[in-house]
Amino acid sequence: MPFPSEETVRDTVILGSGCSGLTAAIYTARANLKPLVIEGHEPGGQLSITTLVENFPGWPDGVQGPELVENMRKQAEKFGAEMEMGHLVEADLSKSPIELNFGSKVVKTRTLIVASGASARWLGLPSEQALIGHGVSSCATCDGFFFSGKEICVIGGGDSAMEEAMFLTRFATKVYLIHRSASFRASKIMLDRAKEHPQIEFLTNTVVEEVLGVEEKEVRGIRIRNTESGEVREIALSGFFLGIGHIPNAKFFEGQMDLDDDGYIRSKDNVFTTYNGKVLDGVFCAGDVQDRRYRQAITASGSGCMAALEVEKYLEEHGR
Ligand code: NDP
Repeated sequence: MPFPSEETVRDTVILGSGCSGLTAAIYTARANLKPLVIEGHEPGGQLSITTLVENFPGWPDGVQGPELVENMRKQAEKFGAEMEMGHLVEADLSKSPIELNFGSKVVKTRTLIVASGASARWLGLPSEQALIGHGVSSCATCDGFFFSGKEICVIGGGDSAMEEAMFLTRFATKVYLIHRSASFRASKIMLDRAKEHPQIEFLTNTVVEEVLGVEEKEVRGIRIRNTESGEVREIALSGFFLGIGHIPNAKFFEGQMDLDDDGYIRSKDNVFTTYNGKVLDGVFCAGDVQDRRYRQAITASGSGCMAALEVEKYLEEHGR
């Protein structure tokens, strides 16, 4: 069915301004769809809090995360994308056009790309937050390389922590795996592999009280406490990796979209959204909000491109 041709109805709105949202914006803007990009609480997404990115193709000397995302933003704006800060208050995905209420205004749109990302879970210690990008990282694939020949720790007891710890042994001479209890969520095979690794030392029933190095502006060590014995001690190390999971920013769509048990969008073909198993009309998704597995800047960008191409196809099929 053709859409109403009201000028007030947008062709596409993109929720999120990380690399998936901005790549979708570049593609839809170049297709002359004048996308509106809504920047949420973390403009630029996870890249905006990283430092050097060395694995984004096309940057042989690496690029700072904030610079990479700022360039994407400029590129999208150059082709006519509009950026606005906003927080969704209410959305009705069943309507056509879709209605998005941002409190100060209601936006009507023929298509929506949900690219709201996932946020790494942090311990929440002030010292940890102060040292993000200076030895504290939530992404081993991104930052492991910087810790060649150094000692580091990984926090967590799930598959992510095991995978990170194993990966980081390629660079670090020693990896402390620190877990708050003695039972693990990690699959047996991954846990056994990590336990058998000569460079990994497990410290269970252990919590981190502080990341040391705030004054020096780089991680120098950690202060930990054994929850059984109460013993407190310090360990000197240079890297502090979080492997305690991610929180997808999709909770808002609960009840209107199929989400998995951890709150990730259950995408179909990595780009379509569904509700009760049925594809949602005009609602697409991209990036980490629907990807628990790869979580890389380049895969998020790739998926933003896919969503944009589907939006173009959808609008064309509906007579735009
Ligand atoms: P999980 O939820 O499985 O594990 C999170 C871990 O972090 C738990 O050990 C938890 O401890 C700990 N944790 C959570 N919050 C805190 C906190 N505030 N302080 C200290 N520790 C904390 O998350 P993962 O990211 O590891 O895995 C998510 C999903 O992705 C799983 O289904 C996993 O199997 C899958 N995955 C698969 C991989 C693979 O197959 N290659 C790789 C990575 C993930 P506690 O147990 O005490 O609650």
